[in-house]
Amino acid sequence: MSLEDRGTALVDPSLWFEPGCCRGPHYLRFNPHDRDPGRMGAWCPTLRRSLTVRKDEIERCSPEALYWIRGFLYGAEREPPVDEYDGGPLEDGDPRLERWRAAVREFDETGTWTDPEEHVANGA
Ligand SMILES: [Zn+2]
Repeated sequence: MSLEDRGTALVDPSLWFEPGCCRGPHYLRFNPHDRDPGRMGAWCPTLRRSLTVRKDEIERCSPEALYWIRGFLYGAEREPPVDEYDGGPLEDGDPRLERWRAAVREFDETGTWTDPEEHVANGA
């Protein structure tokens, strides 16, 4: 595995993916620290510029890219809710903790973070 200049940015060629909106291989590269925690930084050799992409916008990717994405999303999971009185962890079985766990599962699957308490507001 080596770094190559594919455009003007150094990319790891094993981290290729194809988004639905642009042809050809693109390359995962960095954490853009976007407000949307599931957005990953990448390089588009066709347009010769950086872009951000979410997991559900990727149509195909290498096995290496898939593991890069999994690790990125695990690392970007939001912290669990805490007890409002002592700031400590919630007990197992607390509905707020269960809603957070559901949001984490959805995030790891889709790359989209939904506030756990919004699930309640939407009746989900
Ligand atoms: Zn592109």
